[in-house]
Amino acid sequence: MTLFDSPAFEGHEGVHSFFDERTGLRTIIAVHSTARGPAAGGCRMWPYPTAELALEDALRLSRAMSYKNAMADLELGGGKAVIIGDSRTQKTPALFEAFGRAVERVGGRYWTAEDVGVSPADLTHARRHTRYVAGLEGHPAASGDPSPVTAEGIFRGIRLCVRRGLSRDLDGVTVAIQGVGHVGAYLADKLHAAGAKLVIADVNEAAVREVAARTGAKVVPAAAIFDAQADVFAPCALGGAINEETLQRISAPIIAGGANNQLASPEIGRELFAQGRLYAPDYVINGGGIINVAGEIRALERGEAFDAAWVEAKLGRLMDTLDEVLDRARQEKRPTHEVANEIARARIAGAAEKKAAA
Ligand code: NAD
Repeated sequence: MTLFDSPAFEGHEGVHSFFDERTGLRTIIAVHSTARGPAAGGCRMWPYPTAELALEDALRLSRAMSYKNAMADLELGGGKAVIIGDSRTQKTPALFEAFGRAVERVGGRYWTAEDVGVSPADLTHARRHTRYVAGLEGHPAASGDPSPVTAEGIFRGIRLCVRRGLSRDLDGVTVAIQGVGHVGAYLADKLHAAGAKLVIADVNEAAVREVAARTGAKVVPAAAIFDAQADVFAPCALGGAINEETLQRISAPIIAGGANNQLASPEIGRELFAQGRLYAPDYVINGGGIINVAGEIRALERGEAFDAAWVEAKLGRLMDTLDEVLDRARQEKRPTHEVANEIARARIAGAAEKKAAA
């Protein structure tokens, strides 16, 4: 199969591969769309067994960033970088310097940031050779940890879903949270403050203990979270939490949480819809983090300090977009994830047309 036949290719504007002999850097930078603005998306370092798998991942993730950035109404397109390698053993400052040179060669059409296996410290090395890096620490434009903003968006999204689906407020509603890491822990605090009852699980026992002590949450074993009696199931751990097996066990009428790629397949989304459950599309409800990063890119481009008020306005707009997705899905009797994809594609196509006409 050639690159152009790959199902993940779907209209990518550019796919750039770089090899640096001195450091052994092998990286692929996929630029899905720059219709709305420069492509933005993190850099993932992963020991992909083959270059083909690395390419598939880069393509899939960069397209997802286009959709996420469009739904967050950001003047950014979608892109993603992958570095082939083991982040535990193969990271060096020189490797990330070489990565910075690769980003620079894409000429400002791609902004990088952290993702799985890549930290702000790694990006500091990349920054020596390119200015197209967000997610750095210690400068006036820096946006800091995106997790609290991500959690705030999810909190508001859950409140919206509960109001729409259950015609009530969060007080007394039970939310089951799978994963109380960065996002899940902030989310638990916010839900607790709003009067929700919590059931939580995490494979990290120290994390659950800490969150339970603060919020009075009921703790269940990680594998038992799907069986919890709850009004809302909030996946905040890894992707694929909603699959054929877990769907049989989840009783909650609302599924809304922070994890990326919650649906194991598009068919699961259709099944959720057929069962009359309300699913908040993951890449819409968890868009707070990228809004925060976009705030940093905006500040860097303008030579200004980070503007929290701009981020707050975008977060408000994100909730309007979630409301629009849920409205249309109800009116058109269609699954929410399909409606979200359609709106994202229309926003990207609209921007492309405008750009072509200019
Ligand atoms: P994290 O690594 O801090 O937290 C994930 C937590 O899930 C960890 O505590 C981990 O122990 C736990 N976990 C892993 N497997 C589990 C299992 N089988 N059962 C229960 N718990 C399990 O990551 P995070 O930053 O909180 O992100 C959580 C999810 O949200 C990820 O899917 C991430 O891609 C997505 N997301 C995060 C952000 C952000 O701003 N951090 C933004 C958008 C999306």
